[in-house]
Amino acid sequence: MGKKRKGLKVFYNCDKCPAYCCSYERIIVGKRDIRRLAKHYGLSFEKARKKFTKKGEEKGERVLRHRRDEAYGTVCRFLDRETRECTVYDARPGICREYPGSKRCGYYDFLCFERNAQEDPEFVATAYNP
Ligand code: SF4
Ligand code: SF4
Repeated sequence: MGKKRKGLKVFYNCDKCPAYCCSYERIIVGKRDIRRLAKHYGLSFEKARKKFTKKGEEKGERVLRHRRDEAYGTVCRFLDRETRECTVYDARPGICREYPGSKRCGYYDFLCFERNAQEDPEFVATAYNP
């Protein structure tokens, strides 16, 4: 999800991460996000809303739908499960553009911690809850 910001030193590397953040089950989207996805796929707002989102925890909240994933159980339906890249990068929701929003990524810190503990640079930790 995250991308290095120009000129800002960051302490995470999305290239070494299997898109841990995209496994978060509550990726909240707003109307603007749905409109952008609808335009990207040439769908009506209502069709995109139904196809790509589902009810969230809070009243009126919409979250991105998930699908099965070997690494994390489920991930956002837009994640390419082979390349681990976002398939709608230019049309991704605002929350995905902003994350992690600081120099550190909590998921990545946890991933590195577990990889060090397991002495396995490929290890995929699955129990982090932000
Ligand atoms: S969890 Fe962090 S390091 Fe991994 S892809 Fe997302 S932003 Fe990048
Ligand atoms: S839309 Fe893209 S960046 Fe956002 S959670 Fe889904 S796969 Fe990840």
